[in-house]
Amino acid sequence: MSIAGNLSTILDEIPKEVSLVAVSKTKPIEDLQAAYNAGQRIFGENKIQEMTSKWEVLPKDIQWHMIGNVQSNKVKYMAPYVALIHGVDRSKLLAEINKQAAKNNRVIDCLLQVHIAQESTKFGLNETELNDIIHQQLTTPFPNIRIVGLMGMATFTSDNVQIKQEFTFLKALYDKARNQLKDISILSMGMSGDYALAIEVGSNMIRLGSKIFGERNY
Ligand SMILES: *Cc1c(COP(=O)(O)O)cnc(C)c1O
Repeated sequence: MSIAGNLSTILDEIPKEVSLVAVSKTKPIEDLQAAYNAGQRIFGENKIQEMTSKWEVLPKDIQWHMIGNVQSNKVKYMAPYVALIHGVDRSKLLAEINKQAAKNNRVIDCLLQVHIAQESTKFGLNETELNDIIHQQLTTPFPNIRIVGLMGMATFTSDNVQIKQEFTFLKALYDKARNQLKDISILSMGMSGDYALAIEVGSNMIRLGSKIFGERNY
């Protein structure tokens, strides 16, 4: 199957209100261009340098989403153009994004990443830390940040009951956050292996890599 074919199969099967992030990390420019030519405009990358070099050469109407863990000292490289940062998991990082956004006269949209998986290696906030950041944004908001939703990654397992439990937990936190912060409207959950389940539970943004571009070689 071609990249264009994969995209059209996926778009046929997901509801219209679910946004599709094409996760293009490690993939060459030609693959991104093929997806672009097929109409895809949202791309996700997990390394700031790689994303920036792709942004430099590809059409400027692409929305670039940073889906990986962000090092504070690299925020400045993506601040001029990044459309959405999915992996915000600490207040210090928000402060740095705010600073770099201000330098570029921008307001940068961010998602708060919540730890929902059993693996200890997956980044993210616990419920208390999430509440602290929401409280901070309510009382002393960063003027150049907009918190627009939550993101999470489920445990890498074939146990659908477990995955569904984790997604359901994140959906509940999302519903609660939506009542607290007015800009919240995005729930980013679901990857190639579990997106159907994520949508069933209430995801409205899925991040698909291998399902569109094929397996990655690192
Ligand atoms: C790589 C990655 C994806 C896409 O993974 P696939 O299994 O290839 O769909 C989604 N989200 C994040 C955060 C990733 O790092």
